[in-house]
Amino acid sequence: MHELAVSKSILSLVLKNAEQKKANKVLAIYLAIGEMRKLEQDWLQRYFDYISKGTIAEGVHIEVKKVPVVFECKLCGKEFSVNLHEDKKLLCPFCDGFEYTLLSGRELLVEKMEVR
Ligand SMILES: [Zn+2]
Repeated sequence: MHELAVSKSILSLVLKNAEQKKANKVLAIYLAIGEMRKLEQDWLQRYFDYISKGTIAEGVHIEVKKVPVVFECKLCGKEFSVNLHEDKKLLCPFCDGFEYTLLSGRELLVEKMEVR
């Protein structure tokens, strides 16, 4: 999904939530984002600056927590994390297995938000 579309859907979720809480202002949004998504805090902040204009979330601070990419090996059952910046073949470091399931790394969650 495109970053702008992602930002917009997060914002509408946050605004709906803020409305339910009868908040006057959204101060900060804390996101948990899997490293696979390659969404950077700087870019998200810029998008939110742009799309939040004229809403109660205008000027909101975006805080991103990266969720590491973790796989579970289908052969030995062990869990391992991966540095996606290294461009090498993905193998289980315990048994060299090449079949695995993704446990985390694709998250996109609003963990919490600060309102007033
Ligand atoms: Zn293994």
